[in-house]
Amino acid sequence: MHDTKPRLTQTDFPDIGRRALQTLQMNLGYLCNLACTHCHVAAGPKRTELMDRATIDVAIEFLRAQSVRTLDVTGGSPEMNPHFRDLVHAARSLDVHVMDRCNPTILNEPGYEWVADFLAENQVEVVASLPCYTEPNVDQQRGKHVFERSIEALQRLNQHGYGQRDSGLELNLVYNPSGATLPPPQASLEDDYRQHLFDEHGIEFNRLFTIANMPIKRFGSMLISKNQFGDYMTLLKNAYRRENLQSVMCRDLVSVDWRGYVYDCDFNQMLEMPLGATGRPHTHLRDLLQTDLTDAPISVADHCYGCTAGQGSSCGGALRGAA
Ligand code: SF4
Ligand code: SF4
Repeated sequence: MHDTKPRLTQTDFPDIGRRALQTLQMNLGYLCNLACTHCHVAAGPKRTELMDRATIDVAIEFLRAQSVRTLDVTGGSPEMNPHFRDLVHAARSLDVHVMDRCNPTILNEPGYEWVADFLAENQVEVVASLPCYTEPNVDQQRGKHVFERSIEALQRLNQHGYGQRDSGLELNLVYNPSGATLPPPQASLEDDYRQHLFDEHGIEFNRLFTIANMPIKRFGSMLISKNQFGDYMTLLKNAYRRENLQSVMCRDLVSVDWRGYVYDCDFNQMLEMPLGATGRPHTHLRDLLQTDLTDAPISVADHCYGCTAGQGSSCGGALRGAA
């Protein structure tokens, strides 16, 4: 039984609880080969925060003890963590599906030539950020030549079989709006991406995930500095759809930071909101090895309206087919 009911901030967002755990999402650290201005963890080449070997071992034990189905790794660039390959090998040997949230330019970074082969050999699903199918928009958000380098990397993944019919190697792309708007309908934007990327670069992929911007951290600060925060919250609240509550990602996922502390989702991690199941800050993954989280409460706040607006949003894209 879980009887805590965390209300850390005043919000009228409805109470929600967990279902059976399916996914462990791990942030392996803030080291990245890029330093995008909009990055929500301010990752970059000089960051030193990396999940250590002892915490990786606890995570492997957690996968086994909790019969987790999916391991979702993120960062920074998760491949830059020196234990990345051991973690993926261990997960695959437990028959856990692995998703790598990949900034595709890592594939052509000196010293990381192994990444494409390794991901394909281990049948890792690649979820690659590509905020637009045009060069100026991508380079403006992510830096000079990032579009060109991303295209080269996606072409390499295609050569390895990614995004190709019946290969079993999934290549999914991620889009989020650059400003204070909701993402356009996922299906029609996916069609546009498919056509442009294939016609202009010969690239094929499986699915496009559209993700709403959360009014927190750097994007939240940008909204405040432009005096748009209130309008964006009104937009999210007016677009609230109750049916999306059924599929918000926190209902079957936990998110772990580079130190091993656990949160209800990646956004709560950024806000350091305690896990709803314990209501305590700094709940470590090692303390949950034998804990059944089913039916535990989830810590919610106003940013949760970002997950339930319109077609809904999660780290796997829209929750519904159409807005
Ligand atoms: S590639 Fe991703 S993790 Fe790296 S700096 Fe850019 S947004 Fe951050
Ligand atoms: S931000 Fe979304 S995923 Fe996170 S707790 Fe709120 S509703 Fe759940």
